[in-house]
Amino acid sequence: MTAAIFEIKRFAVHDGDGIRTTVFFKGCPLRCVWCHNPEGLTAIPQTAHYSHKCIGCGECKKEGFTPEDCLGEATVLYGKEMTVEELLPILLEDRDFYETSGGGVTLSGGECLMQADFCAELLKKLKENEIHTAVDTCGFVSKESLDKVIPYTDVFLYDIKAYDEEVHIKCTEVSNRIILENLAYLDSLNKKIEVRIPYVPDYNDDQIEKIAHFLAPLQSITKIRVLPYHNYAGSKYKALDIVNTLPEKLPTDEEIKIAVETIKKLTNFVVLS
Ligand code: SF4
Ligand code: SF4
Repeated sequence: MTAAIFEIKRFAVHDGDGIRTTVFFKGCPLRCVWCHNPEGLTAIPQTAHYSHKCIGCGECKKEGFTPEDCLGEATVLYGKEMTVEELLPILLEDRDFYETSGGGVTLSGGECLMQADFCAELLKKLKENEIHTAVDTCGFVSKESLDKVIPYTDVFLYDIKAYDEEVHIKCTEVSNRIILENLAYLDSLNKKIEVRIPYVPDYNDDQIEKIAHFLAPLQSITKIRVLPYHNYAGSKYKALDIVNTLPEKLPTDEEIKIAVETIKKLTNFVVLS
């Protein structure tokens, strides 16, 4: 069994507690207008070309060229088929850092649970090695997929992008009903959940109170993070030659502060940005 991986990020500090290694899986069922990982949208490997990095060496004109031969690192292949056996030793390399920082390994994407069998096998091996595990999910997955990884996942990093269904569809092209149901399901099993809310002006900024009301009665939330939208991914859209959907308007510090305070007032959770 293999999975298409587009990045393995070591020393990650924004993908759960402590120092972590994050594995990014290709393929996502959502199409968020603000997607910061467009190289993770499709499940198939893709070649991107960063023209500003090209040093004109001409290697890519030669027969048998592969992206690894690009001297300027201008041509990049996103998506490498890997087995659990190949990934595991890479993920165990930094176990000392995980132990001293309270970190571990995070599976992310794209949507890693589109490849739930692979994730379950990898997470199981990580737990056998006593590594803390996190699954970063958009929640738009079947209950069967969740059930496969639940026994080996210490914490879920769970994205909530909107409460109103029509707003969610406008922002992501899919309904959020299954996402909200799955969150309630994880909560009923007492799984640790860190909720993450991207804040995108003119798209979901009117959803904060409604999301807070929905989350307030849940029991298993460890913290809530409001993630200010940023548009750093613009160059990736260009390099992949896909339509750039990124909104122009960025949130102000004041807007984020108000969102955090609003959620704090309506829930008993720790709320961070
Ligand atoms: S869920 Fe994440 S990876 Fe998928 S489209 Fe949205 S931002 Fe991109
Ligand atoms: S191999 Fe890379 S750096 Fe060299 S010409 Fe081709 S794209 Fe540019």
